[in-house]
Amino acid sequence: MNTPALEARIDLSAVSHNIGVLRAHTSAGIVAVVKADGYGHGAVEVGRAALAAGAAQLGVTTIGEALELRRAGITAPVLAWLHGGNADFGSAIEADVQLGVSSSRELDAVVAAARAAGRTASVTVKVDTGLARNGVHITEWDDTRDALAKAVAEQVITMHGVMSHLVRADEPDHPLNDLQTERLDEAADDLARVGAPVAVRHIANSAATLTRPDLARDLVRPGIAVYGRSPIPELGDFGLVPVMTLSAEVLSVKKIPAGQGVSYSHSWVAPNDTNVALLPAGYADGVPRLLSNMLSVQINGHRYRNVGRICMDQMVVDLGQNPAGVSAGDRAVLFGTGAGDGPTALEWAEAIGTIDYEIVSGIRGRAVRTYVSGPITGEVV
Ligand SMILES: *Cc1c(COP(=O)(O)O)cnc(C)c1O
Repeated sequence: MNTPALEARIDLSAVSHNIGVLRAHTSAGIVAVVKADGYGHGAVEVGRAALAAGAAQLGVTTIGEALELRRAGITAPVLAWLHGGNADFGSAIEADVQLGVSSSRELDAVVAAARAAGRTASVTVKVDTGLARNGVHITEWDDTRDALAKAVAEQVITMHGVMSHLVRADEPDHPLNDLQTERLDEAADDLARVGAPVAVRHIANSAATLTRPDLARDLVRPGIAVYGRSPIPELGDFGLVPVMTLSAEVLSVKKIPAGQGVSYSHSWVAPNDTNVALLPAGYADGVPRLLSNMLSVQINGHRYRNVGRICMDQMVVDLGQNPAGVSAGDRAVLFGTGAGDGPTALEWAEAIGTIDYEIVSGIRGRAVRTYVSGPITGEVV
């Protein structure tokens, strides 16, 4: 009925299903990662659905993202793990946001904010066990550990957790996965030795949760799998169901003669008389321009190829002789669950050498999110 011209439909029952798939793979508590506005799906809506399906808590990158969940009334534990120099630790502490801490400098700021608020901050130390991104590097560990122990002794923080992030989780048998997990355990043991034991340890992302259950500790932190996308496509879909379906209204269908070029620079020229359909989706909405002449959409069950450059706001598909009678007002699925040979975000990603994380988290612009929680296909394995 009132479907937006460009719609990103979010199926929250698929979120529940995917949490079920993850729970079937681990007995650890699930931290559903809803950073980057829920990988482009809506952090609040996905967060609520994940919690209702049994996730233990939510994880985000920034304090701003955590506070948005709080403002929406989500009271479950939330962890935020990446902070700038002006991060608002005070508001985070007031709002009971668990803070990931990556250096003793950051710890100092958290301690100062906790003192100012007259509250105790819940701290999870992020250890860099090999990714060399955020996290306390091994060379600075002793100082940070001692500073954590001191802050615990002064009762200005509680030592909640130790976390780390895997480098090669998409290669389940790689020895680095084991080495990183050993380093995580060592850090936790070390904290216990200095009188600052942690309540929880966690390192597994989606890929490790699904393929290396032995690496799960108290919690796991899946992101992409919550959204129904395989973290390791070569190993199959693990029974996950993609949550986002991007579809566009066919704005017009018109005949063009053989020899007519289409869109900027006429990068495609009709070899025969043909029919083309216009769709209101472009690179400003997150359809990569690099996919010009490479993607195909599905209309009423049939696939049609994009022809000509993808523009900022529009793209064109070739209907040929239009035997199926596509007309204005029909809907084109740009990507969805892949059921019925439908197009997928993974197809887009593979065509341009990236991952579908980047595709789904990049959907924006005029794409209007709608939420449904209908029945889903697919079995919990
Ligand atoms: C993004 C992120 C995750 C989730 O990773 P997926 O591959 O999407 O499962 C987990 N932990 C941290 C620290 C992250 O940044």
